Formats: sequence, structure tokens, C-alpha cells
Amino acid sequence: MLPLNNELPLSMYEAKKTLNTLGMEYEKIHACPNDCILYRNELKDATSCPTCGTSRWKLDGTGTKKRKGLPAKVMWYFPPIPRFRRLFQSPKIAKDLIWHAQEREFDEPRNLRLAISADGVECYDVHRQEVFTLRVVLLWTINDFPAYGNLSGCVVKGYFACPICGEDTFSHRLKHGKKNSYTGHRIFLPCNHPFRKQKKAFNGKQEFSSPPQPLSGEEILRKIDVISNSWGKNKNSRGKLNVNTTNCWKKKSIFFDLEYWKYLHVCHSLDVMHIEKNVCESIIGTLLNIPGKTKDGLNSRLDLLEMGLRCELGPRFESNRTYLPPACYTLSKVEKRVFCQTLSQLKVPEGYCSNMRNLVSMEDLKLYGLKSHDYHTLTQQLLPMSLRSLLPKHVRHAICRLSFFFNALCSKVVDVSALDKLQNDLVVTLCLLENYFPHSFFDIMLHLTVHLVREVRLCGPVYLRWMYPFERFMKVLKGYVRNRNRPEGCIVEWYIVEEAIEFCTEYLSNVDAIGILISANIDQKVGAPIPGGQVVTIDSNLWLHAHHYVLENTTIVQPYIE
Ligand SMILES: [Zn+2]
Ligand SMILES: [Zn+2]
Repeated sequence: MLPLNNELPLSMYEAKKTLNTLGMEYEKIHACPNDCILYRNELKDATSCPTCGTSRWKLDGTGTKKRKGLPAKVMWYFPPIPRFRRLFQSPKIAKDLIWHAQEREFDEPRNLRLAISADGVECYDVHRQEVFTLRVVLLWTINDFPAYGNLSGCVVKGYFACPICGEDTFSHRLKHGKKNSYTGHRIFLPCNHPFRKQKKAFNGKQEFSSPPQPLSGEEILRKIDVISNSWGKNKNSRGKLNVNTTNCWKKKSIFFDLEYWKYLHVCHSLDVMHIEKNVCESIIGTLLNIPGKTKDGLNSRLDLLEMGLRCELGPRFESNRTYLPPACYTLSKVEKRVFCQTLSQLKVPEGYCSNMRNLVSMEDLKLYGLKSHDYHTLTQQLLPMSLRSLLPKHVRHAICRLSFFFNALCSKVVDVSALDKLQNDLVVTLCLLENYFPHSFFDIMLHLTVHLVREVRLCGPVYLRWMYPFERFMKVLKGYVRNRNRPEGCIVEWYIVEEAIEFCTEYLSNVDAIGILISANIDQKVGAPIPGGQVVTIDSNLWLHAHHYVLENTTIVQPYIE
């Protein structure tokens, strides 16, 4: 069954024994079910939580008796230090880890710059055959927006939802929509821009204030040093002390324990993947008027009326029904059909995006089940294309400008000299959108786009910092779950095995792994055929036509035609 010189272990026991010596360890740490504490260090032997009094052990069916030995909540901990050590055990990886210092001077090129921190640890480098002290630096964290709030300790909703604008966040409460709206992007315009003097198109006022300046780490630390953290889900004891001292911060982030943390320009990076997805979702939801997704509706029209803006859009109440006049962004039924048809009939290269035909419902004229990456392709290219000839020209242009912004932002090569223009163009785009769309359209996600260029400038290209790789890995981990009653255990055990095997193939670099499929597309010069294609026999005339067509559309042939 196996190629020559490959042997299978005789029993499960033997296989596990071999793997155990190779595998990395993990720890199970018991935790309070309300997230107050971890049972470690001085609390190692405690039986109940000192903060909220909940038992450490699971209660039995009746909810009275404690079953000792069965923890109520477990945290699985993978110690990172042995894993860093192992990185330097493979000659190839050890070499790759210092590529950046090949032609430059570094204090210690092997220092890792990643997402966790540790003190110096002793490591052995097989590439250079020596022992050295490894240090690790935490550069920034990458999370979606709610988790951003948890890690950084700042508020991510309400009046001060933008962590970068902080207390200067431009926001107002919509009375009927019962949400906060984040408009006012004119403050980011140059001070003599004509938009700043206009009243009616925006919120009825002129705007001459200057943009808020992001606080530095040291300033933030000074503000939040007064906060005393309290952990756990128990809300009663929490937050009362903090209300008076600061509006934007709910706790002091543990990362400030790192000495250098306050000197970082960007501690937490905004995730472009989620922002792009949410923005695209609300654009499409509003254009197609999908219930639940649309940002337009009776309440948003009432809010406009309340502010005395665009009164012609106000709802009209007739005998027993309410009529919302169409706005400039409303697609008629015919237009919706054209939009959906364009998307569903689209033919794209293999692997470019999921099959759009399965996502578009021509009956309801809606899009269903789109994943983050589908929204990515929509924003990057498909949306401007499928909107051609739909909508009034100025609205279409504003949406396309937003698409072009995301496209330029996500490019793999960043032209630093073009960043200023990119940012200015985006601010104008946001102002244009403010002109056309109702205030309820401007959620925090749309506002966060205004800070993305800053992070590109400080942290580099977006594709190195967004969450796609992590989300994909989540899917891999999900696949490890075989027993639905014990998902964590399945993931942990499988991951440890996978890690050990990966290390072996990496470490024994002269062997080929068996049983791993070679990727279908990388080395093949000829692409794979479109699934569902048919083989037909054609006559020589048609063949010549096809041949001619290919030649005429090939770049190398172009000079000869001219
Ligand atoms: Zn507790
Ligand atoms: Zn902001």
C-alpha cells in the first residue's frame, strides 16, 4: 500500500507513543464560568471563585450537587516558547527567519516580531549552529471590531465609538433609528474645500473644525491609568468608578504591561476584511432594499425630516398605507433585475470567487449567503461593473469611488507618495455619500475607512495584516471537530498531531511527504477546464476562426498586428 521503505505503526498505541515524544505540550487551565479568574498560581487549589463565588466544578443535573473533578470551564493553553524554539530547529525555517537581515545591520536578526510577547529565552539555531537568546516583540493585534474593543479596552459603540477619533468622534443619535450615526467627514477635508461652506447638502451647518488628532500611546496610558480593572461577566460591580474619569475607555489593556507598548503608533490594527465586508453589505442591502440589511426605511426618512434635510424624501401617510418617495439611490424593480442578472450570468476565472449564480436569487432579487471573500470581490471589481448604466450618474460615481478606494488600499505594492491623494479622495467620496445617502447609512464601519490609510502608512500593506488567513485557519480547526460534545478536545488533539507531523516533514528535509496532494494549479501550464463543460467536434473553418480570435487577443502578438 505504501511506497518502499515506508512503514505503518502496528497499533494505535505505538503510533501515539511515537507522536507523544514528538508532540508539543498543552495545558488545561480551569477558569471561572463567569470569566473572573483562572485557577492557577496561588488559586491553583481553590474550589470556588473568590470574586463571584461560583463553584469551580460542574453541577450535576439537579443543579445542587457538585461533581468534583469536572471543571465548569476550561482554558486550553498552548505555551508559545517551546514552539518558538522549534522554529529554529529546522534549518530551512531558521534561515527564512533571518532573511530580512541578509543585507542589513541588525542588533539581533533572529528576534521575532509577532503577535505575542515573552522574555528572552534560550534557543538553539541549527542554521548557524549556536545558542542565542531569543526575544519576541508584539507588533500589533488584528481583530474584528468588537474584539478590538475587548483587547484595547476602549468603547466601540455609542457616542465615542471610534477608537482613533476618541472623544472627538463626530456622532449624533438618530431619534427614530435609535442608533448613532457617524457623519461629519467634512472635518477631514482641506480647510478651504468648497464642501465645508455648503449647508443644505450636509447637516444644515457649515463646518470649519479641524480633524481630531489620534492620541499617542503615552497620552492614552495617562488617561487610563486611573481605571481599576474588574473582571468577569458580573455587570453590577463594574464600570461605576470609570464613568466620571473617561468616556472612551472601559479598562486598562493588559498589553500596557509591555514596556514598549505605549510607544507603538498602532497597537491594534483595524481589520480591512471586516470593514470592507460590512460596508459592501450595507451598500448592497440599501440598493436592493433587502429587509434587515437596508439602511433606508421609514425611520431613516423620519430622521431626515426631523433634521430638516431633504424634505422631499419624507414619508407620505395616505389613508391606510405609508409611501416612501424613491431617493436617488433607490433601484427600480427593472434595475434590480438588471443588477442581479449581471451578477448571476458572470463568468470569472476559476478560484476568483464563489459561483455568483448560487448567491443571486432572481425571484426575490436578493443576494444570499455571501461570505467575506464574496463581498471582497464585489467591492474590488464586480460592484462598479454591475452598476454600469444603473442609478443616476453622480450616485454611481460615488459608489465606484469607494470601490476604487478599497481596490487601491488592498494593493500588494504600496506607493507611499500616492497615499495622500488616496486619503483625500476617500474623504471627498465619504462627503459625496453623505450628500446622497440618509444618515442611518453611516455606521461606524463606514467611518473607520477614514483611518485605514493611516494604518497602511504606519504598518504596511493590508494583505499582511487582515484576517483572511486567520479566518481560513478557523475553518481548518472547525474541520477537526469529530465529536460535537467535545469540540475543544478534538481541536487540541488533532492540532498537536498535525503540528508534530508538520515538524517531521520540515525537519527531515530530504524526504517527500506521502499522501499529500500536489496543488493542481501551481505547476501546470495549462489551466483546468471549466466544470460542466462539453466536448464538441468542430469543423476546420470554425477552428481557424477560434485560433485567429485567440491570436488577435494575445499581448505578444499585438505589435505584429499593428
Ligand atoms: Zn467568578
Ligand atoms: Zn474616527
